[in-house]
Order: sequence, then structure tokens, then C-alpha cells
Amino acid sequence: MAVQARSRSAFEVAQGRFDEVAELLGLSDSERRILREVKRELVVHFPVRHDDGSVRVYTGFRVQHNITRGPAKGGLRYQAGLNLSTVKALAMLMSWKCAAVGIPFGGAKGGVDVDPKRLSDSELEHLTRRYATEISLLVGPERDIPAPDLGTSSKIMAWIMDTVSMHAGHSVTASVTGKPVDIGGSEGREESAGRGATDVTLEALKYLRIEEDSPTAAVQGYGQVGAPAARLLAAAGLRVVAVSDSHGATHNTRGLDLEALNRHRAEGGDVRSFKGGEGMLGEELLELPVTVLVPAAVEDQITQANAGRIRARLITEAANAAVTPEADAILHGNDVFLIPDILANAGGVIVSYFEWVQDLQAFFWEEEEINTKLHHVITRSFYEVLHASVNRRVDMRTAAYALAVQRVANANTVLGVYP
Ligand code: NAD
Repeated sequence: MAVQARSRSAFEVAQGRFDEVAELLGLSDSERRILREVKRELVVHFPVRHDDGSVRVYTGFRVQHNITRGPAKGGLRYQAGLNLSTVKALAMLMSWKCAAVGIPFGGAKGGVDVDPKRLSDSELEHLTRRYATEISLLVGPERDIPAPDLGTSSKIMAWIMDTVSMHAGHSVTASVTGKPVDIGGSEGREESAGRGATDVTLEALKYLRIEEDSPTAAVQGYGQVGAPAARLLAAAGLRVVAVSDSHGATHNTRGLDLEALNRHRAEGGDVRSFKGGEGMLGEELLELPVTVLVPAAVEDQITQANAGRIRARLITEAANAAVTPEADAILHGNDVFLIPDILANAGGVIVSYFEWVQDLQAFFWEEEEINTKLHHVITRSFYEVLHASVNRRVDMRTAAYALAVQRVANANTVLGVYP
């Protein structure tokens, strides 16, 4: 994709990526006008009583980009500084992601401008239940189904499901995904995004014919996506030499003992203070000479400023929008193979889809079946994108977008413009 010099908002960047693909596909002006905007954007300001008796007002969002292929689907973020532009960009990304892997959902995203670590458990519950009530005019199994994302968890999904259920007067299990298994969650959902990222990484290593004795990996962000990705990459035989969280990184060229790291974290330690590796700055991890780099934290981590110093052969973009368009061009020029976010982290929404289907049918599958089905869907999607990339002579991101945008455009065309 072409280099963009001007500094733009997150949504403008997302629109820019769409515009380039719309051009490549030769979409009509009307198709472009419809798809480059979001369908619905809801901004809510709501009060929450804190433990000390004070009342604070928070701002939350829920955005639906496109719902022609099915109900809106997308995660909820609790992140300080979250703004409408970012949520709109991520909602658009969700439309492309669901279409890229061929699951029948449209795209949505939401969240609250809050640092969840600064709230007590009861404040978090009050904030979540009030936010869920505020966005309840959009949410529901046939309409819009939230899921966990940055700063949210299965516990928060349980509160949301319970709030929706209290309003309905009965349990509405299919109203959210990423819930605990006890209340209709799916086996395998917690590690699904990391598992999907691992599956496509292993396929890419085969395709690139990287047959090192012990390929290495570095994972930025040791959360719901990064931690399982690190564990599964290690289980597949890669040496995970570095991982990071928002406080810094830990590095060990012989490979990190991830079980010991998990014990250290369970005792309240952060990644950087782990004794089984040497502490390093989070930014340094990105430039390590590894086979695979997995950014699994937040957006805009590989930019024009550091893309030229990336030494990985393969990047699995597990975090949404971790690589900027400017960095894409540099990486492509340096022959770094990139598996784009809409494919790399689609395991999360694929298993969310399985969870929703199981809830609607009230018939639950075993973990092995879930993982096998996930592997099938994400591997098929990987090769569809790879073929499009080879045939069109474009990078993997452009290929994934081309497939996805064409599918959404086809759905819009079949339905026409109402009324
Ligand atoms: P999370 O909150 O569980 O974990 C995020 C991790 O990143 C934490 O360890 C945090 O400390 C770390 N982090 C934050 N800023 C960092 C920085 N600058 N450098 C290094 N580490 C940093 O979030 P998550 O759910 O794992 O989401 C991570 C990314 O994956 C996001 O882009 C999210 O949109 C995407 N994603 C999540 C899911 C899911 O199911 N949770 C699915 C698909 C995509």
C-alpha cells in the first residue's frame, strides 16, 4: 500500500486503507460512499458512583460499521483516552475481519474511556452494568454481540450478559461472547485469538520455507492474545526469547520459561522483573533478530520510525492496527512477510462465532472440536489470502482487504439501497 505522509486520525487511516483497496477492486462510487462510513455511532456519557461516595461521569462508545452480512460483532475496550475515531476504525476493521474469514457477522466495536486498573472491583462492575444499559438499545443476539478486547475480560462479559438478561427477564446467553464457560461460554475461547495467530504463523513458516533448527519468536503484549500465542508457539517448537507488557520486556536467548513467568505474574510481578530473563525496554523487543515478531499489545507500534530496524523475517500482527500504512511499505520493501491483523487475530472472532452458534442452539461442543474447526477456518482463510496476494502481486494486507471488501460489497450490491 502507498506511503501516506500526513498525520491522520485512526478512522482516516482506516478509510485510507479502504480507499486504496476500493480502487484496486474498481468499486463503484456508491459502493465506496456506503462502505467508507460507519452505519451507526453511539456516544454515551454516564455516571458511576465510586466507593468513596463521589460520582464520576464516563464516556462510552458503540459503533456499527456494516451489518449486511449478519449481526454486528466486535469487542469492548476499557482504555484511558479511547476516542470515537479509534472505535470507528476498529469497527470498520471488524467488518473486513469477519468477511476475510467468511463468518456471517458485520463489524462493530465499543468501549469506555477509562483505565480499568484504577477502579475497584465494585466500581468496575457498576461502570460495566451502567455502560451495558446505555448501549442496550443496540445490543442483542440478532443485532450486536460484544466480546472482550483490551482491558476487558470474561468477567466483564458475564456482567454485561447478566445486565441484558435482567432487562429481558430471562437469560440471554447469546448476547455476548467470551463469557465464562459456566454461563454459556465456549471451550477454547480464551486462547482462541492466540491459537489462530499461532496456526497462521506456522503455515507462513512452511510457505516461506523457514526451516531453521529452532526458529525464535518475540511477543509484544502478554495479555489475552499474547500470552496464549507465546505458549502455543513454544509448544509448536519455537524458542520464545522475549515477551513484554506495558512496563517493559524480558529477554532470554535460550528461550523463556513461560510457566515460571506465569507463576511470577500470578504472584503480582510484571514481565520486566521476571528473574528468568534480562529486563529490557519494550521498544527494544520489536527490533530483536528473531524469526517471528508478534505485536499483540496496542495499535501503532511499528511505524515509519522503527520499521526499517525490524529484523524479524515474519510479523504476525496479532494486535489490531499494530503496523501503520507507512511501516507496511517499508516492511514490504525489506521483504518482511506480514500476516495482517484481520487474519492474524481472527481466531478470536471465529471462536466467538462458534460460541454464539452454541448458545443459540443450546448445544455445546468439546474443546478439541472447537480447535479443529478454528484451525480449518483460519488455515483456509490464510491460503485464500496467500493466493490472492500471489495472483494480484500485492502484499498480504492488501490481499486480505481485497477479499474482505469484495465480499461486503457483494452483500451490499445484492441487497441494493433501501427503500
Ligand atoms: P489485554 O488487555 O488482555 O492485553 C494487552 C497486553 O498488552 C497487556 O499485557 C498490556 O500490559 C500490554 N501492553 C499495553 N501497551 C503495551 C506496550 N506499549 N508495549 C508492550 N505491551 C503493552 O488485551 P488483548 O485482549 O490481549 O488485546 C491485545 C490486542 O489484540 C488488541 O489490539 C486487541 O484489539 C486485539 N484483539 C484481542 C482479541 C481478544 O479476544 N481479546 C481478539 C482479537 C484481537
